[in-house]
Amino acid sequence: MKNLILFDIDDTLINTKLLKKLQMETLANTLGVSSQEIENFRLIYLNNLKRTSDFSTNDYLQQLANYYNFSFLDLKRTFWHPINFQKCLFPESVEILSKLEKEKYQLGIYSEGFTDFQKHKLKVNNLLKFFAPQHTHILRRKMDPKVLESLPKGTIIIDDKPSVINYLKKLSNIIPIHIIRDNKYQSNKNNENVISGFTELIPLLDQLSKPL
Ligand SMILES: [Mg+2]
Repeated sequence: MKNLILFDIDDTLINTKLLKKLQMETLANTLGVSSQEIENFRLIYLNNLKRTSDFSTNDYLQQLANYYNFSFLDLKRTFWHPINFQKCLFPESVEILSKLEKEKYQLGIYSEGFTDFQKHKLKVNNLLKFFAPQHTHILRRKMDPKVLESLPKGTIIIDDKPSVINYLKKLSNIIPIHIIRDNKYQSNKNNENVISGFTELIPLLDQLSKPL
């Protein structure tokens, strides 16, 4: 049986930095204000949260609608429209998931945030079909030992965040793979399990499956 591979969503499968920018522009156009004004509102909203993954789209949109005296439902419809989510899918994501599926890897998700929002990113991009529901973990707090300890030995988790990778390194049943798309950091690769994009994933998996 091949290893289970779990993917992070934000900035791993989806270009979340771009998504934030596009969503801000869409909200600004809808409300007839500048992107900067929307960004300021977002920063104030974020400042009042304990953690950025506590960001609740409904709560945020409700506050925004109240502030600008705009229809919450219309704002919500604009925000959840698939177009921006589809523009932000890394094109290589579909390719690698199809390849891994053909090679009989079991695939899943290991993501942090609100389930409806995270699943929406997968659903509108037609990615849900790749992931086994029992291996789709969307948690409010990612570094949750309960879930991680229950994963089979040799589970591979791919993530872009250094803090997540460092946490996963401590767990004996997990093999973390750090995806760093930013060229600036490529010199840090060393012997760690680091990839700069999904084209490097299959060669690394082959290397990992070889006996030492
Ligand atoms: Mg991420």
